[in-house]
Amino acid sequence: MSPPVDLILTSELSKMATSFTRMMSGRNTAVLLASLGAGTMATGYLMTDSNILSAEERRKLYPPSADYPDLRRHNNCMAHSLTPAIYGKLRDKVTPNNWSLDQCIQTGVDNPGHPFIKTVGMVAGDEESYEVFADIFDPVIKDRHNGYDPKTMKHPTDLDASKVTNGMFDEKYVLSSRVRTGRSIRGLSLPPCCSRSERREVERVTVQALAGLKGDLAGRYYSLGDMTEKEQQQLIDEHFLFDKPVSPLLTSAFMARDWPDARGIWHNNEKTFLIWVNEEDHTRVISMEKGGNMKRVFERFCRGLQQVEKLIQERGWEFMWNERLGYILTCPSNLGTGLRAGVHIRLPNLSKDPRFGKILDNMRLQKRGTGGVDSATTGDTFDISNNDRLGKSEVELVQLLVDGVNYLIDCEKKLERGQDIKVPSPITQFRK
Ligand code: ADP
Ligand code: MG
Repeated sequence: MSPPVDLILTSELSKMATSFTRMMSGRNTAVLLASLGAGTMATGYLMTDSNILSAEERRKLYPPSADYPDLRRHNNCMAHSLTPAIYGKLRDKVTPNNWSLDQCIQTGVDNPGHPFIKTVGMVAGDEESYEVFADIFDPVIKDRHNGYDPKTMKHPTDLDASKVTNGMFDEKYVLSSRVRTGRSIRGLSLPPCCSRSERREVERVTVQALAGLKGDLAGRYYSLGDMTEKEQQQLIDEHFLFDKPVSPLLTSAFMARDWPDARGIWHNNEKTFLIWVNEEDHTRVISMEKGGNMKRVFERFCRGLQQVEKLIQERGWEFMWNERLGYILTCPSNLGTGLRAGVHIRLPNLSKDPRFGKILDNMRLQKRGTGGVDSATTGDTFDISNNDRLGKSEVELVQLLVDGVNYLIDCEKKLERGQDIKVPSPITQFRK
């Protein structure tokens, strides 16, 4: 037989009392007593409304210097920009969704570095994060986006794919082409911070809107919760679906909560236009296909994205956007266009050349493994994509990627013939 309710309550209360007593006899007693005042103690040790500290009050028991994270071994943008003064100014602030600086930077504190890329080390919990915590987001954005100054600069948008030239790659080297971005729905918290209901609302709004896609873009939604393990793994292995939430970048940013609730993938019948729902962003919009026709991939991307936006707006919603930061996404690395145009490319000679890394850096290109951002490179095939997303338009970034990949292929051909290659001078558009 189960115990009567009041007995359970009594036993719960005595457990709370024990832990509270333990806390009071610890080394923080003096601080607590000083701030609670003797009157509070006189009421006894059971917690009542009058002596439970709010999160804000609790934080203020200690100065910011006592909370400052140990970043001595860190190599990410947040760790390079955060100072005790900035931390002191921002620690006790919260956004309207109650999202704090410590929540923004937790992923960068827990992940000092990344084996393959330089990470940003912080995320936003909502659109307002970028304003409330601008003192740290702004320098991080400037560092990550090649000198773009979000205080003074304006971000351009251009989705006219007809402007891109030379977008057909040599398919001896390029195995597949892909363009993706993210879009967030204004008024709903971002994945690190959202409640279950907000996450489900993102899914509902998105899936309802996508039902309006027509012609070659028409497709359907596959909820992760309704898929078998095997179906999921197959889509991951074929590079269509995001990985399981195993990345510490994701888990330390609170984005694996409730997995797989309200996550899924929408795709057209050919799997050339895909939308991820509630992974790292509310939505990720992807155009991809095998081979080297980046021009066609980008055309479908622009057309599909514009239709998705129209369908979302018709239902009374809009994407998070402002003129300084462009489209607002969870990770500052994706602000602006959110655009990552990339290819899977075979470079057996160039990848063994010691100048490979420098060539990529100078052309603002990023190298990943073909299994995604957390995968090591295997063999001589790489995911090469544009590194910047902000301050340049979609068209400019795709052109930058196209020119860069053509240059890499050129180098590869030269090395095949035993000729020498050159390291191009760095692209430095925003740096003084
Ligand atoms: P994203 O920045 O879009 O989140 P990730 O590095 O996390 O990219 O990879 C997500 C998935 O997309 C992985 O399965 C990866 O293999 C696949 N992918 C990325 N670029 C390409 C490409 N050019 N061709 C085919 N698949 C790709
Ligand atoms: Mg990813």
